[in-house]
Amino acid sequence: MRAMILDAPGVPLRSAAIPDPQPGAGEVLLRVHACGVCRTDLHVVDGELEQPKLPLVPGHEIVGTVLANGPGASRFATGTRVGVPWLGWSCGTCGYCQSGRENLCDRAQFTGYQRDGGYAELTVADERFCFPLPDGFDDLAAAPLLCAGLIGYRSLVLTGDAERLGIYGFGAAAHIVTQVARHEGRRVFAFTRPGDETGQQFARELGAAWAGGSDTAAPEPLDAAIIFAPVGALVPAALAAVAKGATVLCAGSHMSEIPAFPYHLLWGERVVRSVANLTRGDGTEFLRVAGKIPVRTTVQPYPLEAANDALADLRAGHVRGAAVLQCAQ
Ligand SMILES: [Zn+2]
Ligand SMILES: [Zn+2]
Repeated sequence: MRAMILDAPGVPLRSAAIPDPQPGAGEVLLRVHACGVCRTDLHVVDGELEQPKLPLVPGHEIVGTVLANGPGASRFATGTRVGVPWLGWSCGTCGYCQSGRENLCDRAQFTGYQRDGGYAELTVADERFCFPLPDGFDDLAAAPLLCAGLIGYRSLVLTGDAERLGIYGFGAAAHIVTQVARHEGRRVFAFTRPGDETGQQFARELGAAWAGGSDTAAPEPLDAAIIFAPVGALVPAALAAVAKGATVLCAGSHMSEIPAFPYHLLWGERVVRSVANLTRGDGTEFLRVAGKIPVRTTVQPYPLEAANDALADLRAGHVRGAAVLQCAQ
């Protein structure tokens, strides 16, 4: 099969023909139709996430159809379309797994990080960690649901009933979570890179009540903020923008160092916390909600072979919505 391979952090992905993967016990073999390009992939490629298997096939927003079942796998009939997310495996027996927090499992394996992912024509996945996908999304449109949408949704749920929601970084996750938040009757305040008027316009088109650069003050106090951009300096900025009692969520898998800030920004029972990974429960719930609203994803497609271009465009902030690779036809 054809795949894009990471040999070492800091070097471009290499296009190669490698042996087809074989599904192991409990695994499905998938023909990959589309795979989203997530900011976490950039963190893996750049070496900011430091424990990838190498060589590695990146990619953890996989839309594929089942070609074959490995020994003991029977959940999906051949031909079923499924999605594969970032959480590829968890132990099921540790304290985290047994208390509904498999996202925190110490032994968890992540797709496109410790397990080969979807920048390829074929992949294998543990059937228990695959999701059936809602109808109404073609393969390209469904791919960003599997991380951007899912992590965005987990973050949104953790804001409780916050009515005035700040979102920092208006990429793939933000463009989905804005639609869910609007559907729930919340108001969205979108903060983009300073001067990114295209991004601000995009946010308004999706229903944001206000959009501006992250260097500008919010027009009114916010009830919660979600930071998707990997920029630590946004933490004190968001704390300054939220009302007493509000939570600031850091939703990315990596962030630059958070600068020191005066205690009064945290005072008033403001909370800073991270959002890590996903549980299968998050995925099931979000995919149901996404199908019902329905969420409409905006995607920028690339051929599989152009994965390096997609990563470069994401890094430069040149992607409207989500970048998605077209893998096998
Ligand atoms: Zn566990
Ligand atoms: Zn991701």
